[in-house]
Amino acid sequence: MTKLQAVRGMHDILMHETPNWEFLEKSIRSILNQYCYKEIRLPILEKTELFKHAIGDNTDIVSKEMYSFEDKNKSSLTLRPEGTASCVRAGIEHGLFYNQIQRLWYMGPMFRYEKPQKGRQRQFHQLGVEAFGLSGPDIDAEQIMMCDRMWKQLKIKNINLQINSLGTPESRLNYRNILVDYFSSNRNDLDEDSLVRLEKNPLRILDSKNPDMKSLIKNAPNINEYLDIESAAHFAELRELLDHANIKYNINSKLVRGLDYYGKTVYEWTTRDLGAQNTVCAGGRYDDLIENHGSPPTPAIGFAIGIERLLELIDLENLVAKDMPHVYLLIAGDEVRKFGLLLAEEVRNQLPNVKILTNCGGGSLKNQFKKADKSGAEIALILGENELERKQLTVKYLRDEKPQVTIKYSEISNFLSKALSI
Ligand code: ATP
Ligand code: MG
Repeated sequence: MTKLQAVRGMHDILMHETPNWEFLEKSIRSILNQYCYKEIRLPILEKTELFKHAIGDNTDIVSKEMYSFEDKNKSSLTLRPEGTASCVRAGIEHGLFYNQIQRLWYMGPMFRYEKPQKGRQRQFHQLGVEAFGLSGPDIDAEQIMMCDRMWKQLKIKNINLQINSLGTPESRLNYRNILVDYFSSNRNDLDEDSLVRLEKNPLRILDSKNPDMKSLIKNAPNINEYLDIESAAHFAELRELLDHANIKYNINSKLVRGLDYYGKTVYEWTTRDLGAQNTVCAGGRYDDLIENHGSPPTPAIGFAIGIERLLELIDLENLVAKDMPHVYLLIAGDEVRKFGLLLAEEVRNQLPNVKILTNCGGGSLKNQFKKADKSGAEIALILGENELERKQLTVKYLRDEKPQVTIKYSEISNFLSKALSI
């Protein structure tokens, strides 16, 4: 048999890492609550055509990165590579958009067949945040302010905002033609990928990560000069709102994002602290997506945060409380076992915030003390035959020099709540 291993690029999140995830999820939830966003839970599998239609056939995600397969009914299904398409599908299916405003979020695994490397997995996690039914730049600004609040609360520094506007489909088409002229006259400097993009989706060339293409892209025509009046005004108002909120940004006219559904506002938060995979959060407006699915037009804007990349940036040592038991219950003797289990239950009944670890599996007292010490518990409670007879417990402090004491059963919860200040 071959060696047992997880699928390449897919990671277990082990028990010493889950407290970090829980901490981050909790922090994120509390901020989303402050902005009145509501959680929506979406399936991990969708019909393949949903992503093709929403994200675009010529994007990297759809052309190279999707995990697609046929089910027993020969329907083509895909493990979701992102959440916006599903969120839009759910909104249309359940009539959440018509004449309504929705602020929604979801969090969970996404799947992309990419080259695994630091900051780039094949199963990774995203927080997705979407607002539907609002067309003005105020919601764009508010979402950016929410991101800014997250970075501040998580004490993340060195994070920079880049913004751009992609205009309406018409102005984008006009810019596209100008871009095709430019890149066609520099055809010899294009890499293989860009030659394909030139035919199929020229804006995507600006998204190239190939360093050899950098200067050609830098000198390409600037999309901001080709914006329609309405998009230019929307972009100017957004900048004014950000300035007023004292949020710093750079305008990056080459920022196009890797998905076809974006128009008008797009943005990315990047950091120097992550190496090559430096984007933590990316978002933008997709006012035409819902209409493209055959539903009444509904303006929309959203962003996604890569949770693994965000975790890399947080000072977990100092922010996340260590997940240790408070109390370790030593149980000396098989006869005592059933009383020990009930005693622990009683502590849980009376002090729901106390974490009590029972010594299941027996063993000598010496051995049990070793386990108690290793567990990180502050207090050891010892229940042996003597204690049982007298309805007492011996208490030993594991982390300081206080003397050992004996307490009555009836005193346990009082004692523990004082000793642990819980
Ligand atoms: P990149 O340019 O890094 O490939 P992207 O433009 O494909 O990112 P989006 O689809 O906008 O990324 O996803 C939003 C965020 O999700 C990214 O900014 C990143 O933090 C995270 N992300 C995307 N793909 C991966 C991956 N394969 N592994 C880990 N995180 C990822
Ligand atoms: Mg990508």
